[in-house]
Amino acid sequence: MIRLNRSVVIAAFSLFFVSLFSAHGAGNDAQPLIVLKAARLFDGKSKALITNGVVIVQGTTITDAGSNLPIPSGAQVIDFGDATLSPGFMDAHTHVTADYTGNFTERRLKTLETNVSELALMAIPNARVTVEAGFTTVRDLGSRFEGSHDFVDVALRNAIARGIIVGPRMLVATYGIGATGGHFDDTAGFRDLLFGREPDYTDGIADGPDAIRKAVRFQIKNGADVIKAAVSGGVLSMTDEVDTPQFTPAEMAALVDETHRLRKKIAVHCHGDQAAREAIEAGVDSIEHGSFLKPETLQLMKTKGTYLVPTLMATEWILGKIDAYPPVLQAKARAAGAARTEMFRNAVKLGVKIGLGTDAAVYPHGQNAKEFKLMFDLGMPAIDALRAATSVNAELFGIAQKVGTLEKGKLADIVAIPGDPTADITATERVSFVMKEGKIVKNTAKP
Ligand SMILES: [Zn+2]
Repeated sequence: MIRLNRSVVIAAFSLFFVSLFSAHGAGNDAQPLIVLKAARLFDGKSKALITNGVVIVQGTTITDAGSNLPIPSGAQVIDFGDATLSPGFMDAHTHVTADYTGNFTERRLKTLETNVSELALMAIPNARVTVEAGFTTVRDLGSRFEGSHDFVDVALRNAIARGIIVGPRMLVATYGIGATGGHFDDTAGFRDLLFGREPDYTDGIADGPDAIRKAVRFQIKNGADVIKAAVSGGVLSMTDEVDTPQFTPAEMAALVDETHRLRKKIAVHCHGDQAAREAIEAGVDSIEHGSFLKPETLQLMKTKGTYLVPTLMATEWILGKIDAYPPVLQAKARAAGAARTEMFRNAVKLGVKIGLGTDAAVYPHGQNAKEFKLMFDLGMPAIDALRAATSVNAELFGIAQKVGTLEKGKLADIVAIPGDPTADITATERVSFVMKEGKIVKNTAKP
């Protein structure tokens, strides 16, 4: 139900004229108020929903949120009825510029045939479906196209921020950093020197502490908000084992030290237990995937405050389409998939900080919210899965002062979920309303 009172117009006009004559000019006060109401509200951090939720938005910002708040006169009221208001979801692990679905080998060759401008344009609908799924902020953990030095993720982030295209707020990693022949070395599996030279720090490939420092500096110089590195093998790479360590402790120490000196977070792709232990000891901010982590390693994460981003969607998708991958990758996917269930259950039991992340691009963009049910099915309470996607991720991203909760002063990133997501977690897959920074991106709610 949308009610736009005549008084809102009058109020807006009078505020406009007041601001014309005020010392500060046309400030936030001149902007109309929008009030969002629903039967329930999840504030992003509490252990339970509250009833009769109200969020008051002015301009880009939440001015108040809570239960049964009085409606300011002149406000536009949107009442969602039997629904739950929540902070916009956040995905800690996406690749919005990429699409890794379909037959692996065909897709790999097709990408080599396609010019990078075309690949960049193909990312536009990916960005739209992601925000329309309720994900108002994402970390984009690696974007590279073999032989190209275009920073497509930086361009996409900036175009979204300028309002040129519709998408989530993006924190991008540019090229993930990895070792020669490791998970991020895209020339691995092709004939030697097919691409004319061995990749180097300008491709994110670095060996030795000094080269790794240079690679970190190069990414940040070119627009990285967050640093991503592959410290163990991975599933979708042709020549490495899925769990081998790919950086030495000295290399990891340099990686973490350089990243933190430049005041960025370091997210590491890691399936293997030994690599994870060394990375956690070096002080990384998050372990992405973590398939083979032993309880002792998870306990170390708990002690050090390291986040786990389990990306259950990625293995789920690959295992469901296993024939689309070459046999060597099938074996790696099966091993990681078999290990991750116990790992995730242990992490929940131990109280490791868990952020929601999906590895979007491995599965079709826009299905990010399916991760909630996977986490729930493996033993995480629904309310904690919701927190993982909101306040926990906001802390992991280092932007908790701006987003992640419905509180006065936060940016108005708000979604409406039909019904009660703590009674049916799959309701997160059907958000009917998305607001990003005070702008309505989607509204399919029935009045
Ligand atoms: Zn990934």
